[in-house]
Amino acid sequence: MKALEARFLSIHSQIAAAATAAGRSPDAVTLVAVSKFHSASSIAALAALGQRDFAENYVQEALSKQEILAHHPLFEQMIWHFTGPIQSNKTRAIATHFSWVHSVDRPKIAERLSAQRPDELPALKIFIEVNLDGESTKSGVTLAQMPEMLALCQRLPRIELVGLMAIPAPTSTDAFVRLAQILAQINANLPAPLPMLSMGMSADFIAAIAAGSTHVRIGTALFGAR
Ligand SMILES: *Cc1c(COP(=O)(O)O)cnc(C)c1O
Repeated sequence: MKALEARFLSIHSQIAAAATAAGRSPDAVTLVAVSKFHSASSIAALAALGQRDFAENYVQEALSKQEILAHHPLFEQMIWHFTGPIQSNKTRAIATHFSWVHSVDRPKIAERLSAQRPDELPALKIFIEVNLDGESTKSGVTLAQMPEMLALCQRLPRIELVGLMAIPAPTSTDAFVRLAQILAQINANLPAPLPMLSMGMSADFIAAIAAGSTHVRIGTALFGAR
């Protein structure tokens, strides 16, 4: 068995075991393969194994890989997620070439993504990135800014707010539980609860699933070192 296939099967069984241990269905957790710095051929190889959700952090890199893969028989089935920092001059490309955005970290970005989402595509699914510790050096919406950001995202017509995302510091051991609690508090005041939590990477996805993650973003543990 090739190394990529072995890692793919291993991650799947670890996700299933972590979900089952938490009393959750393995189907409740989506594996998002973070392919930044990995080649289009690695993406194609993973797609051939059954992977469908891929995430990229840099717009130019993503678009050049999508162009290479455009004629691949599985291209139409690939689902593209954007997980990187967002500059406002890149929102049009993101709104056009991705189905999900995990890193919406300020009102201006939400507004531009909604305004620039092409009419012929379904609404762009977005997570609000949360700055869990309120550090001014970190990106993300602070809890103080959250009510305004939520109201905006729910009002914008061409984005569909699905939940919250965070990239906690490795030392922040209770971060996943805190993000889940923040989502539960938000949902207590909403008519239709937000169902999703994008949290957990190669080093910590088991803990994230235990805390309720619905989308684990895994790069290194799948593709190997970047
Ligand atoms: C790179 C990256 C990941 C994947 O990290 P690994 O540790 O390689 O699994 C997940 N989420 C975001 C936002 C990233 O930038």
